[in-house]
Amino acid sequence: MAPSGPSSVRRRCRRCLYWIPVLFISIIVCWSYYACVIQLCIVTMENIGEKILCLIAYHFFLLLFVWSYWKTIFTLPMNPAKEFHLSYSDKELLEREPRGESQQDVLRRMAKDLPVYTRTMSGAIRYCDRCQLVKPDRCHHCSVCDKCILKMDHHCPWVNNCVGFSNYKFFLLFLAYSLLYCLFIVATDLQYFIKFWTNGLPDTQAKFHIMFLFFAAAMFSVSLSSLFGYHCWLVCKNRSTLEAFRAPVFRHGTDKNGFSLGFSKNLRQVFGDEQKYWLLPVFTSLGDGCSFPTCLVNQDPEQASTPTGANTATKSIENNPFPAKPLRESQSHLLTDSQSWNENNGNSEKGKLAGMSNPGLTIENET
Ligand SMILES: [Zn+2]
Ligand SMILES: [Zn+2]
Repeated sequence: MAPSGPSSVRRRCRRCLYWIPVLFISIIVCWSYYACVIQLCIVTMENIGEKILCLIAYHFFLLLFVWSYWKTIFTLPMNPAKEFHLSYSDKELLEREPRGESQQDVLRRMAKDLPVYTRTMSGAIRYCDRCQLVKPDRCHHCSVCDKCILKMDHHCPWVNNCVGFSNYKFFLLFLAYSLLYCLFIVATDLQYFIKFWTNGLPDTQAKFHIMFLFFAAAMFSVSLSSLFGYHCWLVCKNRSTLEAFRAPVFRHGTDKNGFSLGFSKNLRQVFGDEQKYWLLPVFTSLGDGCSFPTCLVNQDPEQASTPTGANTATKSIENNPFPAKPLRESQSHLLTDSQSWNENNGNSEKGKLAGMSNPGLTIENET
């Protein structure tokens, strides 16, 4: 039965209100189109060559910007795979258990075969009460979407969507292309903006569009460049916005660089292996979003024993949905290029974590 009543009406109203920031951006983009194409290029520009060149370049940047914005908005966030959800019997068992240690025992047993390596601040298995699942690493519950989102970065009101594993690349490209779009407008509009102040423009309504276009584009350029710069830094460090604020907790403790594999591997984790797709808003991120390679080679005693050698690892991937190691086949090459790795090292010292005790691991030094 479809939910009805005042609460569902309220929820629907709220959902409509969430679209207001997207509507706001869309209106600004539509106006900027009118101001730039009609008023600046067609009405004001006199040189026909400049006019054509400007129109072609403008539409090129607009296309990339709108495409990546669209993909960021309409790509559904990914939720944890069914393996992470509690079975009916597990749910019953958990409800019977009192809160605290015995409940943790149940969760620990459930998480045993899952590639879960992060814990809560108190060292407990991360569990979402609301979705009734063991949270995969880097997954968080979004209170706006009311769902657990894989590799959640943040909930962005400007795209009315959660930015996470499924659309993080699109979000980065959206920032990059919207910045380029604004910078292009600033560069094209600059000479006419100067003419505006030196009374070199004819007294038409175009001159006011040209003035406001410059102000708006310059203002957005400043805010977008700082946001884009921050996210570039996050990609280099392999951190989500949430992780930048609160470092992930592993069994041995907090480690803000726990997921960092070095600059080039961090970049490839988001953008994929094929460089020809890096600049296009098509999904090429590596992995499944449920498990992530970590630079931590110390074995978790509660997880099943780790296979050594690539052949065993590949076989176990074919047979099990979750191999007894933190890596999926699609991700394992992120960690090791030489196809030999060994996680059975009990050493938790940082220097040794970074592959010194393991020749198969080539991890660049983090600062
Ligand atoms: Zn949840
Ligand atoms: Zn959300």
